[in-house]
Amino acid sequence: MSEALNGQINLEMWSSYLYLSMSLYFESEGRRGFAKWYRVQSQEEYAHALALIDYVHARGSRAVLQPITGVPAVWNSTLDAVVATLKHEEMVTAQINALYTQAIEEKDYATRQMLNAFIAEQVDEEETVQHIIDDLSLVGDDGTGLLQIDRELGTRTYKEPSFARNA
Ligand code: MG
Repeated sequence: MSEALNGQINLEMWSSYLYLSMSLYFESEGRRGFAKWYRVQSQEEYAHALALIDYVHARGSRAVLQPITGVPAVWNSTLDAVVATLKHEEMVTAQINALYTQAIEEKDYATRQMLNAFIAEQVDEEETVQHIIDDLSLVGDDGTGLLQIDRELGTRTYKEPSFARNA
């Protein structure tokens, strides 16, 4: 189980790197609100990795960091990047579900309990990103609409996830 959790730590770090990369992309495109939103998203993924590291250590194992490679730096459009975000989160959800299945098979009740917070978190992630896609589809190429979405996303501030051990 701890090996699989190590894989998840790497995936959360990969996600953090991906969203920081998207933040830089949006900054270069002049989408400052999106850039801010993705920077906070990156911080949140980093916190997920830390929470998993703390859990692995609490169980008496040791987290081992693995390389983070192959993170894209460019997307075709705002919508393209946000759609890529939804696809990525759906993949993360599948990975967490696989961890949960493994925890059931190994009768690892503590890990099942810990993963509940991650399962709930994925529901929120997918819903939030889908709403951004819906809003973008609604406004299309309308500059005023895009500006409104950008301003709204720019108000996001970082909050320590509730399941972080030091929260
Ligand atoms: Mg995450």
